[in-house]
Amino acid sequence: MRKFFLLFLLFSSLFLTASISAISQVQGQNQNNYSLQIQGLTWNRTTLNILLVTPNNESWWNPIYVNSTLRAIGQWNDAISYFASNYSNFGYLSSLKFEPAVTNETKTGFDIYLNWTETTLDNTADEVGLTSTTDQNNVIINCTVNLATHTSHGDALSDGDMQNIALHELGHSLGLGHSNYTGDVMYPAYTLLGSADSISTLDIYGVATVFAWMLNPSKFYPVNEWLQSDPVILPSNQYEYLPVSPQNARPQTLANNPIVQTLILMVEILIHPEILAIVLLFIIVLIIIALIPSKRKKPKAAS
Ligand SMILES: [Zn+2]
Repeated sequence: MRKFFLLFLLFSSLFLTASISAISQVQGQNQNNYSLQIQGLTWNRTTLNILLVTPNNESWWNPIYVNSTLRAIGQWNDAISYFASNYSNFGYLSSLKFEPAVTNETKTGFDIYLNWTETTLDNTADEVGLTSTTDQNNVIINCTVNLATHTSHGDALSDGDMQNIALHELGHSLGLGHSNYTGDVMYPAYTLLGSADSISTLDIYGVATVFAWMLNPSKFYPVNEWLQSDPVILPSNQYEYLPVSPQNARPQTLANNPIVQTLILMVEILIHPEILAIVLLFIIVLIIIALIPSKRKKPKAAS
């Protein structure tokens, strides 16, 4: 819970920093209202140019993460487009989209910069994603998304985990905060080896609130007159997951098979010296117990 609390503190510090943690305590709850915090910030444009900056020749780097992240970007574009076409009153969202580019060089002029680091992003919590936003008068100037490729124990994230974590951080880059619903992609805690996350009607309803100015661009300023940071409550509890196109869905590869992933994670955990030492000690104790001759009662003759 301490980890969660830390996240909460980070999140509430002016909403400049939002993070996700790879912790495993996800608690069930009775769901009466699906709500989503918003940061009270918006963009003054509808095409968000996002630059994926890949590391150069780093031993920890796995190029597969570019694909995972591009699929997450595509998932947001799919969900926004579907919502604009299928939910009346939200057609104005149809021109909102991410426009990704990939580079291994320093470039300027992009709205969002996405970087990868090897290690987790905080020493005390197992943070695997962190989004920082700079704004002026509640208008986002630019945004940086950092994604870790390994947990604090040094275990490499899977392709599917990277897609889920990127999905969450991209939600922050759109001005979203955290959801109260454990099944939502904007829930602040994440369990590794999770199934493929979907974007919900709640998430896009939050995006529609952040970008409500698209209905009437002349009333954009001042932003705080039409956009507050109060949580968004989904009308009539119409919580649904939005469809994703096949090219942006998690591929059904062996590397994304949950059983194979669990085995890989177990091996990764076992090769840590301190854990290996405990396991070996346990096995030695078992062998010693097995070798001690045990006194057995002679079976009684049947009478
Ligand atoms: Zn977060």
